[in-house]
Amino acid sequence: MIIVIRPDASKEQLTLFKAALEERYNVTVNTWVGVESTVLGLIGDTVQIDEDWVNAQEFVESVKRVQEPYKKANRKFHPDNTVIELPTGQKIGDGSLYIMAGPCSVETEEQINYVARRVKAAGASFLRGGAFKPRTSPYSFQGLKAEGLDLLKGARKETGLPIVTEIMRTSHIDMFESVDIIQVGARNMQNFELLKELGKINKPILLKRGLSSTIEEWIMSAEYIMAGGNEQVILCERGIRTYETATRNTLDLSAVPIIKKLSHLPVIVDPSHATGKAWLVEQMSLAAVAAGADGLMIEVHNDPKHALSDGAQSLTPDQFDRAAKKIFALKKAYDEIVNEQD
Ligand code: PEP
Ligand code: MN
Repeated sequence: MIIVIRPDASKEQLTLFKAALEERYNVTVNTWVGVESTVLGLIGDTVQIDEDWVNAQEFVESVKRVQEPYKKANRKFHPDNTVIELPTGQKIGDGSLYIMAGPCSVETEEQINYVARRVKAAGASFLRGGAFKPRTSPYSFQGLKAEGLDLLKGARKETGLPIVTEIMRTSHIDMFESVDIIQVGARNMQNFELLKELGKINKPILLKRGLSSTIEEWIMSAEYIMAGGNEQVILCERGIRTYETATRNTLDLSAVPIIKKLSHLPVIVDPSHATGKAWLVEQMSLAAVAAGADGLMIEVHNDPKHALSDGAQSLTPDQFDRAAKKIFALKKAYDEIVNEQD
């Protein structure tokens, strides 16, 4: 961290400030005294330094971090990829491509079981489905809640597919005990109390990118979970809000290689919420594979026209079949072209 001190700072202010930094944060402070200003270079673990506190000192002109504000999620301190291994055998982040597929919302037993069977047959490794739904309107379907969780568990029993579903509040953590991967939705990406509690459990967390979050803010949310001890975090790019109206959100595919550079955590892509349009899902899935994603989350509904949520972006099982074939074929080619020639 570099701190520029104003030219009118007194010697005493500077001495006290340096001592405070060294004592509070256990860093070494190097000082360069120039004609116009004095520059402090902090060496050590600067992650915990509160920039606001530094900026609040009246003699500080500017502060610049030269190191990322996150540590546990940082590839610099953990060069190898994190591989999240599930008791059911899937290893997310091991270089293979995992597809999580299923309806936006769990609606009925027949629906979830049918979709689960179909997505499994097409090659999906996980069943997704919302039981607690964060809807933009309070008048929209809010999910089947606990009953939805039970239906998901029933579909898991039928098919053997592990389940991924969204949690909305800390008081539900016990209820999610037997969920295989707990999803934190875009709207809760910065619900820090929820993230802290999820940091205390021993279960993979799928952390979606917030609607208007920067990549750094998103990694900081992963850091919240990891700081509590739970290092099994999977990041999910699901599009961000921009001025573009042709799609529901704007899919930021560059986030995939950027995350891979900055962090060791696996990253998957959700082209359904990113585009909001079923006809774009296949092509954006293929693009996500080419961007190096570890997996995909795709909404599939038995009858999209009558879906209780997100019908317009849901594939039919037949469409999913066709898309999955191309996705796995492209992944094979990608591994041959990109991975094996590196
Ligand atoms: C979902 O997965 O159904 C969902 C609500 O996603 P997001 O949080 O990305 O909007
Ligand atoms: Mn949805």
